[in-house]
Amino acid sequence: MTAITRLAPSPTGSLHLGNARTFLANWALARAGGWKIILRIEDLDGPRVKPEAASGILETLRWLGLDWDEGPFVQSDDLEPYRAAMRRLAEDGRAFPCALTRTQIEAAASAPQEGAHDVRYPPELRPKAWERRFEDAAANWRFLVGEAPVAFTDAVYGPQSVSASAIIGDFVVWTKRGTPAYQLAVVVDDHRQGVTEVVRGADLLDSAARQLLLYRALGLGPEPRYTHLPLVIGPDGKRLAKRHGDSRLEHYREKGVRPERVVGLLARWCGIEAKELSAREFAEAFELAKVPKTPVVFTAADDESLY
Ligand code: GLU
Repeated sequence: MTAITRLAPSPTGSLHLGNARTFLANWALARAGGWKIILRIEDLDGPRVKPEAASGILETLRWLGLDWDEGPFVQSDDLEPYRAAMRRLAEDGRAFPCALTRTQIEAAASAPQEGAHDVRYPPELRPKAWERRFEDAAANWRFLVGEAPVAFTDAVYGPQSVSASAIIGDFVVWTKRGTPAYQLAVVVDDHRQGVTEVVRGADLLDSAARQLLLYRALGLGPEPRYTHLPLVIGPDGKRLAKRHGDSRLEHYREKGVRPERVVGLLARWCGIEAKELSAREFAEAFELAKVPKTPVVFTAADDESLY
């Protein structure tokens, strides 16, 4: 069986050095291992999506030297596969409609959740009864999360045991915008596109547990193998963002920086000593075991090294 991976950018802005490192490492693992690469545009992520950003991202990936074998597939092109999965979850009683707002859920939570992206939905808030029928309605639906932790092995972080119930509780699988939530969309797509290798940023490590719960609830398999790469952060310890300077690849490109220089920096962040190299050369040199397991800090010196 051929291994299959995907590059799955969200068109929420342009590609920065952090995203680029993940895509380059994913591509390198695939090219060195003979995996097929699918390109998928994840454009269902609500208000943050800027549809016009997708073509810029693809162009930047090509400029860097990356290619793919199939796609781009665009999630918003056809919502029916996600609806079908949602109908199944609803009919099996694995998900329920929820009209509570974030503020109402926060008010019910016992402890404040500072900095958490999503609020934990505690089991006490579950409705007593609901109709097990998914209408393509403008309502949030949540997946019923059991108590048992989810065990899986990550190729970088090793054996994991994640309690989705403690971290997030009953999470949203369908949104009131009438679109699947990220967790459901990713599982439906990874399954129907035959993805066996999921390689992405470590910010999604605990999402893997939610995704595995959905694989199992939907009776889908085989489950993919997960490889989460440590993030690139700013000197303040936060995820790379605008306030750390303009680290968009488009910005460097406009300044005349050559892609080999950018790949050289991304390579150094993967434990490869190089000043300049092509994406192909990177793929030959890349070893997952050499990638530091701690976040990489993007410094002013890194920025200067590109010129
Ligand atoms: N679209 C997501 C992102 O750009 C990646 C999701 C995934 O790889 O599962 O962060």
